[in-house]
Amino acid sequence: MAATKKASAGTKGLEDLFLDGLKDIYYAEKKILKALPKMAKGAEDAQVSAAFEKHLVETEGQVERLEQVFDILGIAARGKTCPAIDGIIEEGSEILEEYKGSTSIDAGLVAAAQAVEHYEIARYGTLIAWATSLGKDDIVELLNATLEEEKATDDALTSLGESGVNDRAAEQQKAA
Ligand code: FE
Ligand code: FE
Ligand code: FE
Repeated sequence: MAATKKASAGTKGLEDLFLDGLKDIYYAEKKILKALPKMAKGAEDAQVSAAFEKHLVETEGQVERLEQVFDILGIAARGKTCPAIDGIIEEGSEILEEYKGSTSIDAGLVAAAQAVEHYEIARYGTLIAWATSLGKDDIVELLNATLEEEKATDDALTSLGESGVNDRAAEQQKAA
């Protein structure tokens, strides 16, 4: 007995899921590309700002990698609206607006950026698993390179938060 229910009900397969996921993350990366300079500008802490600038450069390369993936598949690079990243970036914009000039702005921006990285890590992780199952080894390699950058960025943000940004915000809270 097959574990799948109603196998004949739809015609969409893993290849379709993979393509939709690719378009989703392509849309997301381009959106992130626009958000990072604003976050870098809004950060008070020079290290936080530098981390955003660094990831901006990486993100440019990630967009290019995705374009390479579309190229390998022989289809035009096109995004598909990702409501999740729209919402996550909207939350970041709220931090920028509502915490402007506040001592906790950096803690807020680090957290907002980590929400972005976690979304990307989830998506790339899935895409890599699907590409592996579909036997697309060259694509797996490209996506893996990006996943490593997202994980490293997440780790760097955790370190920034824990190595001063959060504690400074807490101290200034007490002093206020
Ligand atoms: Fe990215
Ligand atoms: Fe999405
Ligand atoms: Fe990222």
